[in-house]
This record gives sequence, C-alpha cells and structure tokens, in this order.
Amino acid sequence: MADKPCCKNETCSTCQAAKQWIAWHQDGDQMRFRGQAEGIPVARVNGIHYVVQPYNHNAPPQYLGFGGTRFTFRFHDGREITSNDVMCQGEIPARFHDRLPDNAVIVPQEPARSRAPFGTLKDL
Ligand SMILES: [Zn+2]
Repeated sequence: MADKPCCKNETCSTCQAAKQWIAWHQDGDQMRFRGQAEGIPVARVNGIHYVVQPYNHNAPPQYLGFGGTRFTFRFHDGREITSNDVMCQGEIPARFHDRLPDNAVIVPQEPARSRAPFGTLKDL
C-alpha cells in the first residue's frame, strides 16, 4: 500500500511524529524520557500507534485514555500488558510501515460474566 509523500524531506508534522515513533522503536519500542531507565511500552497494531501507560487504579476514567477502557496487548516478544490508560497516536502513514512494523496484537477482553452463586452455569 503506497501513499503519496506529504512533503519532500519528511519535515512536516506528520513525518516528524513518525520519526519520533521510529526513535522509540529503535530504543526498544518504548517511550523514554531523558534519563529514565525504563520507558513506557509502545505498541503498533495493524498500522496504528499506541502508548501503553501503566494501569491506573486512581484516576477517574475520564482522565484516562479511551475513557479508561481496558486493552490487553500481546507483544510479538511474548509480553502481555493490560492497561486502562492507553493513548492512541493514530495511523502510521503507509510509507513508514517498513520502518514501523507491527509489534503486537490486541487480545480481546473477556466479556463480563455473571456467576451463579453456587456452582457454575454452562454457556454463560
Ligand atoms: Zn511529511
């Protein structure tokens, strides 16, 4: 899938964002602030870029990414991270896909189940 370059020398804001993502990718797929030993994992799923912040038990949902929706990312290296504070940076432009390959899949969440008080009900 090819898309038209948005600018000549990858200097526009779209390209600058993608270059930042490439830097995070080259730093081990993490967003790391200066001097930080450990960064925040970044995930690329189906060409979409996400920052997977630590699970937040304190903040009200409206302050969290996707309103506090839980996502579980299964990274190609085997890590599985569940967060209720996922930030999405949007679609990775097609011309950057070779430099920003997918590194994870999103695992569907278990549907909420009501449990029978005694024993279990089949096919709930
Ligand atoms: Zn551009």
